[in-house]
Amino acid sequence: MDGQRRRGVAILGSTGSIGTTALRVLSRQRDRFRVAALTAFSNAELLRDQVNEYRPAFAGLVVNGTERARIAAAGEGAPCGPWRLGPECLVEAAGRDDVDIVLNAVVGAAGLDATLAALSRGKRVALANKETLVMGGSLVTRACAQGGGEIVPVDSEHSAILQCITGRPGMEVRRVIITASGGPFRQWTPEQLGRATLEDALRHPTWRMGRKITVDSATMANKALEVIEAHFLFGLPYDRIEVVVHPQSIVHSFVEFVDGSVLAQLGVPSMELPVLYALTHPERVSDTGVPHFDPVASSPLTFEPVDEVRFPAFALGVAAGRQGGAAPAVFNAANEAAVALFLDGRIRFSDIGAAIAGALDALGSLPGEGREALLAADGAARRNVQERFGC
Ligand code: NAD
Ligand code: MG
Repeated sequence: MDGQRRRGVAILGSTGSIGTTALRVLSRQRDRFRVAALTAFSNAELLRDQVNEYRPAFAGLVVNGTERARIAAAGEGAPCGPWRLGPECLVEAAGRDDVDIVLNAVVGAAGLDATLAALSRGKRVALANKETLVMGGSLVTRACAQGGGEIVPVDSEHSAILQCITGRPGMEVRRVIITASGGPFRQWTPEQLGRATLEDALRHPTWRMGRKITVDSATMANKALEVIEAHFLFGLPYDRIEVVVHPQSIVHSFVEFVDGSVLAQLGVPSMELPVLYALTHPERVSDTGVPHFDPVASSPLTFEPVDEVRFPAFALGVAAGRQGGAAPAVFNAANEAAVALFLDGRIRFSDIGAAIAGALDALGSLPGEGREALLAADGAARRNVQERFGC
């Protein structure tokens, strides 16, 4: 029918929180977009349901060895061809000719090569997978410039900034102020933080998200990742990127312009709008996914400074961003490794900051030029955390 005009979307990480949100958005926007490819890590059942509903031409499952063997033995296939099994399915999905937009909603550094593949083929990357940009900021921005691709953020704060600056020359921006909910431990004392459990950390006050980013919000490592993300997305020096805690998560970020005017983007916390906007930017299209905004019901809106003493992962991450080289990759990988141990019940909440600090002390000065150097720093940071905390 009108398949030529509808833009093809690949969703990497379609079974996750952002991935399922994106499919809800796309099911309302079928006249503009078609689902061209879906990939997931290991949830074969949900991926199969999605394939049956959205009929992509490509489906990929990363899976571990046992599950891979089980699926291969069962001879399961997608309607339009066999499923691709193995980690290469991400890059394959991202580079397909029938894909115009790659929504990278994978969690962690595993999304790097797919981002690079899409950008170097001139595609739009709707980027939820912020770890990609933190780990390899200059590599990714170079692939983007050389390949003619574009990165449009899905992260709500960066979407807010983009929505405020779209149509304005970059030189008009004086600084950006990223908002942070403060997470579940915003008002906890250091003593309480010492006893925080996994269940406590997973109880986010305003957003429902995957487990890794929910823990990142509790440590505020997420906000450091977002500062680095903003640095690379908007080409701003770190001195012009600030963070403020805003517990209601209604103001998604501020932009201050050179004349002193401040714009903000507001809305009830929902990822439906940032996902949709990343697909349609710079246009806006009619949609019903975002709850009605009621200023009175949202009141009061409050703001407070970040407490860098109780949330050391935040300060460590921003310092790693400023240091540059491999330091952001080391920060990201140490955080991923420590959060995985915390999610497994093998370390305490307060160990996450200590693990990051130790890895940055030992490895923060490694070279960070090029993909191989970044992957080496990433691997070294993961081993560092495993050796010190993983037994
Ligand atoms: P999630 O854990 O709910 O989903 C992750 C998805 O990625 C799943 O489909 C999973 O199968 C897949 N995946 C996991 N590991 C993989 C690997 N090694 N290789 C390939 N695929 C893999 O996570 P999420 O909350 O949807 O977050 C995804 C990304 O979006 C993260 O980078 C996160 O920081 C970012 N983000 C999420 C939100 C949110 O509201 N959830 C908001 C802003 C940014
Ligand atoms: Mg965010």
